[in-house]
Amino acid sequence: MYANPLHTKISYLKGVGPARADLLRKELGLQTLSDLVSFFPNRYIDRTRFYKINALQDTQTEVQIIGQITGIHTVAQKRGSRLIATFSDDTGSMELVWFRGIKWIKDNLKLQTTYVIFGRVNKFKNSFSMPHPEMELLSIYNKSLQSALQPVYPSTETLSKRGVSNRVFQKIIQQLFLDYKGKFQETLSEEIINKFRLLSKNEALFQIHFPENQDKLARSQYRLKLEELFFIQLQLLRNNLVRKKKIKGNPFKEVGAFFKDFYYHYLPFSLTNAQKRVLKEIRKDVGSLAQMNRLLQGDVGSGKTIVAVLAALIALDNKYQVAIMAPTEILALQHYKAIVDLLKEMPIEIRLLTGSVKTKARREIHQSLEEGVVHILIGTHALIEDKVQFKNLGLVVIDEQHRFGVAQRAKMWKKNTLPPHILVMTATPIPRTLAMSVYGDLDISIIDELPPGRKQVKTVLRFDKHRLGVFQFMKKEIVKGRQVYIVYPLIQESEVLDYKDLMDGYESIVRAFPRPDYQVSIVHGKMKPADKEYEMQQFSQGKTQILVATTVIEVGVNIPNASVMIIESAEKFGLSQLHQLRGRVGRGADQSFCILMASHKLTDDAKIRLNTMVETTDGFKIAEVDLKLRGPGNLMGTQQSGVLNLKIADIIKDGSLLKRARYTAQDILAEDPNLELPKNINIKNTYREIDRKTGVWANIS
Ligand code: ADP
Ligand code: MG
Repeated sequence: MYANPLHTKISYLKGVGPARADLLRKELGLQTLSDLVSFFPNRYIDRTRFYKINALQDTQTEVQIIGQITGIHTVAQKRGSRLIATFSDDTGSMELVWFRGIKWIKDNLKLQTTYVIFGRVNKFKNSFSMPHPEMELLSIYNKSLQSALQPVYPSTETLSKRGVSNRVFQKIIQQLFLDYKGKFQETLSEEIINKFRLLSKNEALFQIHFPENQDKLARSQYRLKLEELFFIQLQLLRNNLVRKKKIKGNPFKEVGAFFKDFYYHYLPFSLTNAQKRVLKEIRKDVGSLAQMNRLLQGDVGSGKTIVAVLAALIALDNKYQVAIMAPTEILALQHYKAIVDLLKEMPIEIRLLTGSVKTKARREIHQSLEEGVVHILIGTHALIEDKVQFKNLGLVVIDEQHRFGVAQRAKMWKKNTLPPHILVMTATPIPRTLAMSVYGDLDISIIDELPPGRKQVKTVLRFDKHRLGVFQFMKKEIVKGRQVYIVYPLIQESEVLDYKDLMDGYESIVRAFPRPDYQVSIVHGKMKPADKEYEMQQFSQGKTQILVATTVIEVGVNIPNASVMIIESAEKFGLSQLHQLRGRVGRGADQSFCILMASHKLTDDAKIRLNTMVETTDGFKIAEVDLKLRGPGNLMGTQQSGVLNLKIADIIKDGSLLKRARYTAQDILAEDPNLELPKNINIKNTYREIDRKTGVWANIS
């Protein structure tokens, strides 16, 4: 074996030493030369670009200008004094300012001589100034230009305080390349390098730190991003392969009487093409020897429930039981009712198990589950409890997945000797590129089509001054027999205030919509479950026309006659929440409306969120905007995934590159699943290296 320079500690590098090494480790997590060489600049200062004074803007950070000093004067201040030079080009003039080293500068500045100055500009009223510019005579600058693109490394306050400036960092990296240039191991195969015409690893590393020009820099970034994404995809895909090989499932061999009877006689509508396609994907999975682990993404109202029911029937056809989990009691109950209704003509035993089921009834359910009398169990977290045992659990459907963690999914696995097939359903659409990297352990199906005849929900933005008009509109709709939701935000930090808003709102609604002509329900988190349930019932049975609520109705509630959704303080909601809420209307045949009530003072982000809601109803578009606003770190379920620790690639901006990386990894694993071919030796070594570092994949090989 060769000695891999990358494992060398950075303290051995000339100019670093133990103290600095310690500082770099603490501040930036840099320990080895490998860490150092892949600590990439986060931007470059383009020293080839010159600005004109009249084109300066206050948003610019660092600029480079050519011009001459046309005057110098000193201003006395309380503490010390200030040197001010007037600097002009052919478009205007600005001030250069010094607070320190004044004497030396004054003695050395040359009037009427052309300089190149560089630094940050400040704007005061309409004039610009630059404190402590870097200056060089144009004649010298023209001779001395080495690297046009100067790297700027991420840093910390402590580092700058302790003297590790960007300049010092550059020197450290320079030293690294003096000692090790050309000695870094290639990580990709020749095949991939040729296919995408990539720079070699050595060339790319050098160019990312010391770019010769924009073109080389772009190629180096391309290569390093592709490599980074490729290895993530390789790991995810390979884990999946291993899982499929290792974890045997219960094959559902036949599609039998339950499925066929329902499909041909009781299906209340014909499936959309998307539903059919997804069903096929599920059938293929559950029919194979491996365990299914599938994520079903589909916008609100896209019809995921029926897909779950059909999958359940296949399980029943193969003598297996089915568990369906929802995140809240209201939702579990709703699923229960909907599914009982769908399957009412069939000899199928369905039970509901939630926290509020009494002990005696609960025991009965436990027993009949173990005896195999119950076919389908629907419920909340209560299903996860150890006491809940099945005779032969074959399929677990988890609705609104982001509220259940990976650990909970795993608990359901243990309820059978062979783990049941898992179908996770979510209405939080995640752009496919992101889903590819986040849900590495799940295969993905997408319902990207709404059932026919749905009218788009008309969405408008309204302010407080429009309130009377909004009330009038509500009355008009109620006269037509429609129902209205009014939702108030509930934010943990300001809970007391939020409740006050909710109750004030409720009172003003009751005043504007008096009995007996109108009936108003209210539902919020502080009510007893039974009271909540009662109020929901009143509304869902049409006995009340208006439901005032906090976001408890966010997920899944299905009341087709409710066609108006009013969201109060809409600017306080996140995009995905707004989208979920809006999804509560537009479920019947009537034209539905969503009215976003907002205050006038809106942040830029809030404006984007609200306008996005007005402009589109496409959940995937909304998710993409959300992702751009909040970054992947805030998306549910992404916390443990590697996408957050990317060194150079950007999961949002580099979507197409991610696909390329994924297909490339797929091709390689298809041909060489264990990376045994000689041509893939570099890939194998790198893969092992990553394994060793992260330890996450240590048990696979
Ligand atoms: P979600 O994906 O939000 O869970 P649901 O499964 O609750 O959506 O379906 C929303 C509504 O659409 C339900 O009333 C359901 O009966 C109806 N639906 C589902 N699929 C179809 C279809 N193919 N044609 C017509 N209506 C459908
Ligand atoms: Mg649903």
